[in-house]
Order: sequence, then C-alpha cells, then structure tokens
Amino acid sequence: MSDGGLPAGTRERLRALPSVEAVLVSEAGRAALQIHPRPRVVEAIRRVLAVLRGRILQGEAASFSSDALGPALVALATPGLRPVLNATGVVLHTNLGRAPLAPEALARVEAVGRGYSNLEVDLESGERGSRFAPLLEPLRALTGAEDAMVVNNCAAATLLVLTALAEGREVVVSRGELVEIGGGFRVPDVMRQSHATLVEVGTTNRTRRADYERALSPATALVAKVHRSNFALVGFTEETTVEELARLCQPRGVPLFVDAGSGLLAPLDLPGAPAEPTMRGHVEAGADLVAFSGDKLLGGPQAGIVVGRAFWVSRLRAHPLARALRVDKLTVAALEVTLRMVQEGRGDEIPARALALASEPVLRARADVLRQRLADGGVEVRVVHVEGQVGGGTLPLARPRSWACVVDGDAEALATRLRTGEPSVLGRIEEGRLVLDVRCIDDPDVARLAEAVVAARASLPGA
Ligand SMILES: *Cc1c(COP(=O)(O)O)cnc(C)c1O
Repeated sequence: MSDGGLPAGTRERLRALPSVEAVLVSEAGRAALQIHPRPRVVEAIRRVLAVLRGRILQGEAASFSSDALGPALVALATPGLRPVLNATGVVLHTNLGRAPLAPEALARVEAVGRGYSNLEVDLESGERGSRFAPLLEPLRALTGAEDAMVVNNCAAATLLVLTALAEGREVVVSRGELVEIGGGFRVPDVMRQSHATLVEVGTTNRTRRADYERALSPATALVAKVHRSNFALVGFTEETTVEELARLCQPRGVPLFVDAGSGLLAPLDLPGAPAEPTMRGHVEAGADLVAFSGDKLLGGPQAGIVVGRAFWVSRLRAHPLARALRVDKLTVAALEVTLRMVQEGRGDEIPARALALASEPVLRARADVLRQRLADGGVEVRVVHVEGQVGGGTLPLARPRSWACVVDGDAEALATRLRTGEPSVLGRIEEGRLVLDVRCIDDPDVARLAEAVVAARASLPGA
C-alpha cells in the first residue's frame, strides 16, 4: 500500500539513511577525514545522501553505501577549471583557453605572482611607475609604434578606443567589415556601447576610397578598419588599404584605427595561407592606433594590446575606462616574456606558433605512435590525413594539414566519456566518427591520450 502518496517502503528507506554525523564517525568517515578537510567530507556525505534521497523518492530501493563517498570526495577535490587534452586540432580554440603559454612565460608568472613586484614603482626613482613600462620597449621595437598600452582583451581595446575617441560622434566603417568575431562580439554592438554613431560606407563586397571620402565630415571622430577575422571576402571584391585610408585621414586630423584582431608580430609561414599583414605593416602604412589580441597568433596571455601614436595612446590612458579594463601583473609578466621571445627571433618556439607550424611528417609519426598505443590497449583505429584550422578567428583560409586517429563506435558516447574522464579529452566528431587530431597533443601526452581512449572504450557497453 502507498503511504501518504509515497510508494510502499519509501518512508522506511528514507528513515534508514544514516545522518551526516553517523557517517562522519563511521570507519569510512574517519578514513576520509585522514585525507580531506572536514568541510569537504561533510559536503561529500551531504551530496551522497541527497542523491540517495532523490532516488528513494523516485521509488528505488536504494540504501547508503560508503563506496559512494570516494567519487564524491574526488569530485569536490578537483578544481572546476582544469587542464584538458586538445585533440580537436584547433590551435587557438577559444573555448579551450586559446594559446598555451611558453614555459618561460609561465615561470615568470610564478616568480612575479608568488610575492610582490615593482608593478607600479619605478625602481630607479622610487616614484610611481606605469604597469605598461616593461612592455613598451618590446612593443615599440616589434611594431615601430611610438607608444602602447594593454587592456583585458581586444574587445576591451576596441571599446576603449571608440569610447575615448568617438563617444557621441561618428565612426566611419566599411559595410564589409561589420563582422561578428564570435562569442557574440559584433562590431556594430561595440559601436553602440561606446555611444559612437556608426557611419557605414560601401557595400558588403566593395568599399572604395571615394566611399570613405564622401562620409568624412566635421562630425567624424574616427575611421575604423576591422580585420574580418573568421571569414574571408573572395570574388568580386575591393577594399581600401590602410595606406590609402591614412592618406585620407591624416590631412583632416582624423585618427585611423585598425582593429587587427589576430595580432601577427612576426610573419607566420603557413603553407597555402594568404599572407597576413603584421602589426608593423599597419603602423608603417599609417594607422594611428592598432589593436590586437595577446592570445591569438602572438601566443601570449589574454590581453588587448593597442599600439600607435603617442598623442592618441595618451588619450586612451587618461580615460576612466582604462582603469576598469586594465591588465593584472600576471598578464604583464607573461606578455613581457612572450614579446621578448618574438623580439629575440624565437617566436616560433612559442607554443601556439610552434603548433600551427608543426610539420606533416612529425604529425604523421605522432599519429602512428598513438595508433600503436591504442592497438596495444585493444583499440583499433585508422590513421587519416585531415585538414584543420588555426582557430581563434585567425587565418580563415588556412587549412593546415594534419594527421588524426579515427575511432569507430558510438562517437557521441565515446566523446562524452572522454570529456568527463581524467584527463579530460576533447576531440571532434566528423561523419559520425570520433576524430583525434594529434596537432595539439604534446609527445609526452600521447600515452595519456591513448590510456584515456582505452579506458573510455572499455567503460562503454559492447566494448
Ligand atoms: C578576435 C578579435 C577581437 C576580439 O579579441 P579578444 O581578445 O577575444 O577580445 C576583436 N577584433 C577582431 C578583429 C578580432 O579578430
């Protein structure tokens, strides 16, 4: 018979559940307290009991077992943000944290982060200094610009430029550059946010010098040129170069802003990809301000770097938003080392660039090692030649070729097991098959990847 609307036995089973106190003083509870802090053990017990209560109320004949405590403790002890193995083949994967940092950049983050630093003290004079000071020399040397500043990311840099220089006035932009970068960052929305009035010129595929010229007026605060990032314009197209725009803007005293996004400082020689302009190229072509990301093709920490003429950069620095968008010491530390590496001609040692440049024979050999390790674990896969992408909204036409292992079986189920395992693995699913691209897997991680796949396969029915 049911009892108060509950299935028979429910009340008895609920009553039979131990209290948190009782579990704490049990053998399993005391063992857990030897390893874990008390609040974590209490929370783990609460969670286990809550799940059991739920199952019993659903009519299940569940009862407490101390076996459930271990997994609950492990889940609570594991940080939410954790390293993953990137088997997607996408080097600058925004959802996976974009650029992996160089070991020497990380070492500097650790050295600066563990204690105090001269972040805003000039050690020579003892006076207040600028947090951008260590970045100025390398940024000037690498781009040829007079001055620079750094904010939280390139979206913040764009917002700052538009707000500080164009609030309440007009910004002239080509219709072919009103793009969405990803993650909802749309150029027209940023314009609105900065209370600048957008003056669109040209058409989607063609914007000529004369289109800009007609739009320029005493109300013009800024001419902006936006890198299309994640898409390319091909076919019947025409665009006005930075150089031509500079010739229009300079005599009128209107600043020319280039939102360059991916931030190439040293040319990147990817087979088949059209050449990308470097930041120095934009500065030399006459841009007054150039903004780019720290964690795209530069391969550094998340940051928005603005370089350009001293007069305009000083306007940005003086704006109240600059304080709200400023970078912290850990970013400055990682960025300084990353910039120095490029400056010293060691840019291709930076992980993001090295991964993008990895040669096909090296990748092929890595895929073969993975296949062999999987075979040793009883999982047969095929090694295939694949086309990837650099990602992060950079080099949309580059299709770097790589090698991957294709795992047969229920791709969705396997992908879920791999994602939620330890280490967590993210691959891609193509035509119903799980594809593990080895481009972004370090050689020492191949063994870990293989073990994760073997374990995931073994945990699935029908393995
Ligand atoms: C990627 C990109 C941004 C946004 O950069 P974040 O550093 O991710 O904020 C802005 N503009 C362009 C042109 C981009 O390519």
